[in-house]
Order: sequence, then C-alpha cells, then structure tokens
Amino acid sequence: MTMTDDSTLKVSVLRLGHRVDRDKRMTSHLGLTARAFGADEVILSGDDDPTPIETWKSVTSRFGGQLSCRYEGKPMKWLRSFSKSGGTIVHLTMYGKSWNEITDKIPLEGEVAVVVGGTKVPGELFGLANYNVAVGNQPHSEVAALAVFLNSYLGPREPGDFPGGSVSVVPSDDGKILVTNEDQ
Ligand code: SAM
Repeated sequence: MTMTDDSTLKVSVLRLGHRVDRDKRMTSHLGLTARAFGADEVILSGDDDPTPIETWKSVTSRFGGQLSCRYEGKPMKWLRSFSKSGGTIVHLTMYGKSWNEITDKIPLEGEVAVVVGGTKVPGELFGLANYNVAVGNQPHSEVAALAVFLNSYLGPREPGDFPGGSVSVVPSDDGKILVTNEDQ
C-alpha cells in the first residue's frame, strides 16, 4: 500500500492480452516500469507465462520494495468484480481524454487498477473504466504510457521507497556504484 498524506492507496497494474511468443520483453519491461514508478501490484493476463512474473519477483528481491505479482486467468471478470466492490479503473488508451486534464481528478485513495493492453482490448473496458486516459492521442507503447501516467499520478519516487533489497544503487556522476546491503 502506498501511503499518501491522509489516506491509503493501492495501485495495481493489469496487463491485458500477454502473448508468450511476442510480448515477453515488453511485458517484463511493463512490470518493471510499474514497480519503478510506484505501483503496488502487477497482474498478468493472457498467456499464462511464468517468465515475466519471475523477472518482477527477482528484481524486487534484489532492488527492494514490496511489489506483489500474480497471474489472473479471467481479467474482465476480475475487473467487473473490482468495479462492483468500489475500485477505480483507469484504462490507458490513445482514444481517451488527455492525462493532462484527467490525472488530478483520479482519487489518490482506495484501490486503483491501471489497465494496459497488448493486442486489441475488449470494447467493454471503455465503459467499465472510470477514466479512459490518453498519453497523447497517437499510438505508441504501453510502457511509455504507463511511465508518463504513473509519474504524473503518484509523483516521483524517493530512494526510501524501495527498502529491503539485497543491493542498492548509489547515484553517481561518473560511474556504476552498486552496494550490497549487509543486513539482508
Ligand atoms: N493494437 C492495439 C489496438 O488496436 O488496440 C493497441 C496496441 S498498443 C501498443 C498497446 C497498449 O498501449 C494499449 O492498449 C494502451 O494501453 C497503450 N497505449 C498505446 N498508446 C497509448 C496512448 N497514446 N495513450 C495511452 N495508452 C496508450
């Protein structure tokens, strides 16, 4: 759970339509981007491929933070139930309203699912979503859309947002500094 000033927020990123033969790198990068930009959970749907989930867990164990990862076999059913129980659905789509206008209207409390596609998404999603958000109205990448959206929605991350990893990066002007965390 991400603690904001006066409330509790849980942000899940749902990856729709993963294809094991085409999307391995893109889906892995999507989950890593979700983690690095402040999501609490990444949910994989489409092909039941263990590789992205293994990558997300391994990076979290090495670099810290509390990311949860899981596979969901029936993502639309899960979204309907999430919506009925009061969750907020944000669908990233080039057909939506501009992130510049919408992001500050999205509540920073409760449970929020940010949904990104791979292949064509079910039309039902547009109606189910509380917010259809475009990062520009041109087609590009789900990874780029997610990074821009999460940075604008949650703000930049701080080094302390990723506790408990076996290593930490020390920001440097002129080299690659990775320290081992002794107490892990
Ligand atoms: N070919 C698919 C279709 O026709 O629906 C879309 C593929 S697109 C590369 C994959 C995902 O990236 C989309 O489902 C959406 O979540 C995200 N995406 C791409 N461009 C976007 C944009 N301009 N704004 C927000 N999300 C975007």
